[in-house]
Amino acid sequence: MSRFGIDIPPFAQMALRALETAGHEAWLVGGCVRDALLERKVHDYDIATSARWQEAETALIAAGFTVHRTGTAHGTVTASLNGNTIEVTTYRTDGAYTDGRHPDNVTFVSTIEEDLARRDFTINAMAYHPDRGLLDTGSGQSDLETHTICAVGDASKRFAEDSLRVLRGCRFASQLGFTIEPTTLAAMKKEKTGLLRMSAERITQEMDKLLLGDFVHDALMETVDVLVAFMPEIAACRGFDQHTPYHIYDVWEHTAWVVQYSPKTRLARWVALLHDIGKPAAFYTDANGCGHFFKHQQLSTILAKSIMERLLMSPAFTAQALTLVRIHDRQIAANPRSVKRTLSKLDGDVGLFRTLCGIKRADALAQSELSEPRLKLSYELECVLDEVIASNDAFSLRQLAVNGNDVLELGVPTGPRIGELLDLALDAVIEERLPNERDALIAFLGAQR
Ligand code: ATP
Ligand code: MG
Repeated sequence: MSRFGIDIPPFAQMALRALETAGHEAWLVGGCVRDALLERKVHDYDIATSARWQEAETALIAAGFTVHRTGTAHGTVTASLNGNTIEVTTYRTDGAYTDGRHPDNVTFVSTIEEDLARRDFTINAMAYHPDRGLLDTGSGQSDLETHTICAVGDASKRFAEDSLRVLRGCRFASQLGFTIEPTTLAAMKKEKTGLLRMSAERITQEMDKLLLGDFVHDALMETVDVLVAFMPEIAACRGFDQHTPYHIYDVWEHTAWVVQYSPKTRLARWVALLHDIGKPAAFYTDANGCGHFFKHQQLSTILAKSIMERLLMSPAFTAQALTLVRIHDRQIAANPRSVKRTLSKLDGDVGLFRTLCGIKRADALAQSELSEPRLKLSYELECVLDEVIASNDAFSLRQLAVNGNDVLELGVPTGPRIGELLDLALDAVIEERLPNERDALIAFLGAQR
C-alpha cells in the first residue's frame, strides 16, 4: 500500500482547487481513495465538499468545468473537463435508499467527519487531500492492510437502512479478495431478506461485478448464505456431496471453482454459476452407492431460467446462457464434423462455441484428476474450431450456397418447411454427404421437397 500520497489526475486536482478557491472545503472520498491506496486502477473520482450544490456549480463553472445537475436533491453535481468527469457532493447524511442508488432523503451536514460516518464500509469511508493527506476516522487504513471488509457503525442497523450495502459487501469481497469481518458478515446474513426489496436491475448489476471479481471463488463460498436470499435455488447446492470419484468438491464449491476458472466474461460467469444448479434435484445413487446426476442439465436449465427471469435479464442474454447451461456437458468429439454440428446448433456463433469450451475447461479443472481427459478435450475442441474456421467449411445457414429464395423457387410454399429443408441441406453438408455447391444443393432440395 502506498504511504506516500496518492497520484491525483489533474482534472480532480483542479476541481478540488476550484472549490477551495471559492472558500469551501473539499476532499476526495470513497472508492477512489480506497483503490488508489491499494494501487488498483481508479475508475471514478468523487469529491465531498462543504459547498451546497449551487455554490459548487458556480465555483466549478468559473474554473472552466461543464456542470450537470445529476442529483441535486442529494447534493450532487457532475463536473466535466476534456472528457473527464467527477462527482461533487455536499457533505450529507442519508435516509433510506429504496432505489438502491440514491437515498430517499438527505440531511446536509457541516463536516467531512459526519459525511464519512454515513458511508458503508470502513475502507470506503476515508478522505484524501493532496495537502492535508489522508483522513481516516475509522479503521479504514488498517482494514485495507488486513484485507478486511467491515461496516461503518452498527452493522445490522446500516444494512437494515440500505440493503444494497449487503450486496456491495459481497461484491467487494470478490473484487478485492478481502475477508468480511465476522460481525459484519453475521449482520449481512441477518438482513439478507432486505435484498428482496431491491430492484432486480440493481441486484443484477452487483452480481455481475461479483461474478467478474478476481477472487470470486472465495467470495461465493463466504457469502452463499447471503446470496440465497434472491437465489434460493442455490441453497441445495451448498454442502451437497456428489458421491462420485469424479468430484472432490460439493456442488457449491465445485460451482465456485468453475466460476473462478471460467473466461472473464459476463456470459461465461453466469453460465458457470448456474450450470449445475439442478444437480441436487437430479441426484440418485446406484446399487454401488455411486452418485449420478442423469439429465441434471435439464433441471439446471429450468432453475436458471427462473432465476434469470426473476432478475429481469435480457431475453437475448438469457437465451444464450440457457443454451450453454443445457449443453455444457454434451460430448463433442474433437473432429471437424462434430464441431460443425455443435456450431450449427449454436446458429454458427463462434464466440458462443469458445465460451462453451471455456466452460468445459473450467468444469474439468474443478473436478478430480479423473477429469484430466476432459480438460485436454476442451483445448482440442478449440484447435479444431480454428481449423474449421480456416477451412471456410459451412456450419451455419448463412454460409450455405443456397438460401430461402432458392427453396421458394423450387415451388415450396412460404412456411416452416423452407427452414426445415435448409436445415437438412446444412446437415448433409456438415456430414459431408454433399458439397456446399449450389447445383448439388438445388438437386438435393428438389429431391427432398
Ligand atoms: P466502485 O465505484 O468501485 O463500484 P465505490 O465504493 O466507489 O465502488 P460508488 O458507488 O462509486 O462505489 O460510491 C462511492 C462511495 O459512496 C463509496 O465508496 C461509499 O463511500 C459511498 N457509498 C456508495 N453507496 C453507498 C451505500 N449504499 N451506502 C453507504 N455509502 C455508499
Ligand atoms: Mg466509485
